[in-house]
Amino acid sequence: MTKYQHIFFDLDNTLWDFDRSSILAFDKIFEIFNLINYGIPSAKDFHKTYFDHNNRLWDLYRKGEIDKDFLKIERFRLPLKDYGIVDEKLSIDLGESYTDYAARLVALVPNTMEVLNYLKEKDYKIHLITNGFLEVQSIKMQASGLDKMIDYSFVSEVVGYKKPDHRIFHHAMKEVGGNIEDSVMIGDDLSVDIIPAKEIGMSHIYFNRKKISHNEMLDYEIFDLIEICKIL
Ligand SMILES: [Mg+2]
Repeated sequence: MTKYQHIFFDLDNTLWDFDRSSILAFDKIFEIFNLINYGIPSAKDFHKTYFDHNNRLWDLYRKGEIDKDFLKIERFRLPLKDYGIVDEKLSIDLGESYTDYAARLVALVPNTMEVLNYLKEKDYKIHLITNGFLEVQSIKMQASGLDKMIDYSFVSEVVGYKKPDHRIFHHAMKEVGGNIEDSVMIGDDLSVDIIPAKEIGMSHIYFNRKKISHNEMLDYEIFDLIEICKIL
């Protein structure tokens, strides 16, 4: 047994394969809304166009410059515009439909359940700290069965702070009865999950799934979730 008691995971692209479920959801909405008739060549092409806009809008959302409702519609309004389509209703409908499908089309990162079962057997408390929307994150957790494995979930929309704000980490540790010494943060995003944990003195495991090069000195770095079993 290690000194740790509380294991905090990020959700998207750490346990939940956000990229994969996003692609599956694009296949779905492309078909349902008959987007080929609007002149969009393929679901893959549409997803590519959407991807950059979505990333940029998420940055603005994290900084508090735009709100959730604006983000949901704008991330479809802008890519549609790139194809010369200006259709307010379609932007709204796609936004809603996508959010719904992306949460229901279950796609877990390989070895998620193996690792969570291992941690449970070792009596660790497993928690989530995620920047997503409450409704969406709840559907993902229920649809995938993650909800049964998780002790406490901290969703930024509810807590009132988003990662990398240190306050969401302090809040989460306090709520579960943990502290800096007995807690560890695991996530796929260096600047959002890992650097802030390091800054407050919390142990951290960087899940560098995409093998991104960096110069940070870290406690642990892994490339597959299963490696957690060697650390904890
Ligand atoms: Mg993530």
